[in-house]
Amino acid sequence: MNIAQVWLSIDIETGIDRRGITELLEASTAVLSRNPQPRNPMPHVVTDKCNGCKFTDCVEVCPVACFYELDNQVVIHPDDCIDCMACVDVCPVHAIYEEQDLPPEFAKDVEFNAVQSKQLKDSGAAAITARKDPLPGAAERKKALGY
Ligand code: SF4
Ligand code: SF4
Repeated sequence: MNIAQVWLSIDIETGIDRRGITELLEASTAVLSRNPQPRNPMPHVVTDKCNGCKFTDCVEVCPVACFYELDNQVVIHPDDCIDCMACVDVCPVHAIYEEQDLPPEFAKDVEFNAVQSKQLKDSGAAAITARKDPLPGAAERKKALGY
């Protein structure tokens, strides 16, 4: 039975006109076929600029709780980030980049975020969602970074 026959049988059994739903499905399929991978698998990355600062403004604005905390910085879980960019502008040292805009010197941070965040989540650690005091020396580090 093809899709048209399936819809026809549903129409007959339920009395509901499925034409509109079919058109919606066809439109969705057309969009997906133009952009089969609309979501970057690693949209945002916390770079080494966070190391030693950990101001944590970012964690409060993240709508999906995908930040995990290390001793000296936070990292983003690549499977949970929905690419909303809310965290980018609130970071006082501009430590977070969309992967495609990542300066070359921070290329290693893509894997670092992925490995560290997955290890923490898989071990049962909770995401960090509440702001906390920055690390001692964060103000000096911020100044040294030029902010
Ligand atoms: S706001 Fe910036 S410096 Fe602070 S924890 Fe988030 S990424 Fe790190
Ligand atoms: S881009 Fe959005 S979802 Fe991803 S880490 Fe930042 S705030 Fe969270």
